[in-house]
Amino acid sequence: MKFYNLKNHNEHVSFSQAVKQGLGSQQGLFFPENLPEFTISDINNMMEMDFISRSTRILSAYIGDDIDYNELTKCIKKAFNFPLYVTEVSSNIACLELFYGPTLAFKDFGARFMAEILSYLLSDDQQMTILTATSGDTGAAVAHAFYGMEKIRVVILYPQGKISLFQEKLFCTLGNNIDTIAIDGDFDTCQSLVKQAFENEKLKNIIVLNSANSINVSRLLAQICYYFEAVAQLPQEKRTQLVISVPSGNFGNLTAGLMAKSLGLPVKRFIAATNINDTVPRFLSSGQWHPNPTVTTLSNAMDVSRPNNWPRLEELFFRKAWNLSDLGYGVVSDEVIQYTLRQLSEKQYISEPHSAIAYRLIHDQLQKGEYGLFLGTAHPIKFQNIVEKIIEKPLLLPKKFANYIERKLLSHYMKADFSKLYAFLVK
Ligand SMILES: *Cc1c(COP(=O)(O)O)cnc(C)c1O
Repeated sequence: MKFYNLKNHNEHVSFSQAVKQGLGSQQGLFFPENLPEFTISDINNMMEMDFISRSTRILSAYIGDDIDYNELTKCIKKAFNFPLYVTEVSSNIACLELFYGPTLAFKDFGARFMAEILSYLLSDDQQMTILTATSGDTGAAVAHAFYGMEKIRVVILYPQGKISLFQEKLFCTLGNNIDTIAIDGDFDTCQSLVKQAFENEKLKNIIVLNSANSINVSRLLAQICYYFEAVAQLPQEKRTQLVISVPSGNFGNLTAGLMAKSLGLPVKRFIAATNINDTVPRFLSSGQWHPNPTVTTLSNAMDVSRPNNWPRLEELFFRKAWNLSDLGYGVVSDEVIQYTLRQLSEKQYISEPHSAIAYRLIHDQLQKGEYGLFLGTAHPIKFQNIVEKIIEKPLLLPKKFANYIERKLLSHYMKADFSKLYAFLVK
C-alpha cells in the first residue's frame, strides 16, 4: 500500500520511503491510502494470538506488500521486547500500562519499531544521522531504540539544566553511536537548531538526516498494536462496551487508537484527554481552532498547543465518514491532577500526572454498563519528585534502573550556535 501526503494528495510513496523521509513536501504528514478492515471472525481469532504474532498481522495489513512477513516479525520481536499489562483500578476501570520498556514510557513502542525498520531498510553502505530535540521522553526513547545500530548515528539536543537528573542519566550515559548535547537554552532553542539543520542544503549533501519524531508514520502504526493487546487481555464480558481515555499532547497516541477501531477493534468511544493546553477540546466544543500560547503544567509531555498529528485524526474521521461530535473530550487542571493522584493512591494505585488526566475523565464520563480503560503513558518513577510530593509516599526505583544514577554523563555542551552544531554533525 502507498502512503500519501496530506498536504499534496498527488505525492504517493511506499512505506519504506515514508519512514526514511519522515515528512512529505510542505511538511505534510503521510497517511495510508487504504484503510484495511478485519472481519469479526478475524478479530476473534486475533484475540487468541500472542502479542508478536497479532502485531505482525495488524502491521502487515498496512505494509505487508513492502516488508516481508518474516522480516516484519523479526523487527516487531526486537522492538516489542517488554511486557504491557491491563491493571484494574476499580470494578469498571483499568489502566493499560505501557511503561515497562527501557525508558519507562509508551514512546518506547513507536521509537523501537521505527529503529528496527530503519536499520532493516538501510543497506550496508548507507549511513544515516538521526537528529532530534527533546524535553525528555522522546530523546530517551530514541536513544535507547537506536543504541548500538551500526549504520545510524543519533544526535540529541536537550536544554541544559531543564530535565531531571534521572532523565539525563537515562539517555546521556549510553555512548557508542549516541551523542547527546546539552544546549545553553530552552527546548525551543534546541528545536530551532534542529530545524536549521533540516533546512541546510549543504549539510544535507554531506549527511543523510532523519528526525525520528512522532510524525514518522512507522511510530504511529506501531502504536495501533497495543490497543488490540489491551482488548485481548480483558475478559470477554468487559469487551463489549469499552471506552478508552487517552492522555494527549501531539495526538499520535489517540490517532493510533482510532486506527485500531477503523481496523475493526470493538471500541464504543474514545476520550481525548488534555491538560489546560486545550486547543482540541475547545475546537470540539466550539468548532473554532484557536491555539493559545503553550502553558507549562505538571504533565509536561502534553504541553502542546499545536498538536502535530491532528491532521491525521481529521483525515481518518473524514475517510471513515465518522462524526467528530462522537469523540469524547475533557480538560484537567494541575489542581485536579493532584487531587486525582491522591484519590488513586488511596485506592492503592500509584500513577503520574499524564495518566491521571486520562483516569479523571474516564472516571467522570463513564456511563452505566460501560467499561473504561485509561492509558498509562509513563511510569510514576519518571516523575518521582512531583508524585512523591503530591501523594506523600516514597516511590521505589525499579531495580533495573538503580545503576543509572551512578553512571557518568557523556553529554557535550554547546552554545546555541548553529555553526557549532554544523561542525559537530559533519565531524
Ligand atoms: C508523549 C507523551 C504523551 C502524549 O502523547 P501524544 O501521542 O503526543 O498525544 C502523554 N504522556 C506521556 C508520558 C508522554 O511522554
